[in-house]
Amino acid sequence: MKDEAELPGRAENGSPGAEAGLPQGAVERKRKDMPNLWMQCQGCSRVVYKPRVEEKLNVCPECNFHFEISSWKRIEITVDPGSFEEHFTQLSPEDPLGFRALKAYRDRLADAQRKTGLQDACVIGTALVEAMPVVFGVSDSRFLRGSMGSVVGEKICRGTELARDRGYPFIFVSGSGGGARMDEGILSLMQMSKTSAALADFDRHGGLFISVLTNPTMGGAMASFAALGDIILAEPKALIGFAGPNVIRETIKTEIPEGFQTSEFLLEHGFIDRIVNRDEIRPTIAYFMRMFGSASA
Ligand SMILES: [Zn+2]
Repeated sequence: MKDEAELPGRAENGSPGAEAGLPQGAVERKRKDMPNLWMQCQGCSRVVYKPRVEEKLNVCPECNFHFEISSWKRIEITVDPGSFEEHFTQLSPEDPLGFRALKAYRDRLADAQRKTGLQDACVIGTALVEAMPVVFGVSDSRFLRGSMGSVVGEKICRGTELARDRGYPFIFVSGSGGGARMDEGILSLMQMSKTSAALADFDRHGGLFISVLTNPTMGGAMASFAALGDIILAEPKALIGFAGPNVIRETIKTEIPEGFQTSEFLLEHGFIDRIVNRDEIRPTIAYFMRMFGSASA
């Protein structure tokens, strides 16, 4: 979401006539105290009424663009109310390389932790979906773009092991636009093979993995666990791919097709099984779980 303060239309809120007679300072205070009720949609660029967007689970009422949401909001709208129990909360990230780019990794982690209230970009736990037990996980795009470092990889592996041991399906909602977390170097890349191996083991034990792709799911996440679902669902108009379009264009020296790397394109080409609106995600997951033999607890 764009910073609301920069949006066009803000200056038009309230007519100057209504403020006539107030001293300048009072007008500014009044403006500051006013709740900001408008935001600009990234999908259609229209200025839309925020409470209406929130009522629709953070979906644009004009064009159906699905905005990014926090992991806890995702849990709230996907699993049965009050059923989520978080696991593996003791895992927190380290900075094994003492990595520093423009900013030290340690400081970026501390910033992300403060802003999101999360230890790292992934939350995993047990829950119910229409009364059927699952292991449910989500990666949070607000935490260093949801990138997969050691903690995200480890939590996904432990999640699949928990699902295997209990005989539950594993449901994971990816918002990992950052791919692998390069601040952790090879340890981050290793998570690709580690999560893939864990899911292969889960598969050998007959486990059902439903992968839900949201905007954006890219890079090392898409090149490993996110692409390995028995069923792959995606939110509408999500950006899904490995390298960005500019990198591909320059590498293979050719034009790439219109709409490339969207949910719709990938559905048409058989990579995704179904595109699902956010308000339909819980019954859709439940539908596939029943198809694969899940029953109420
Ligand atoms: Zn829109």
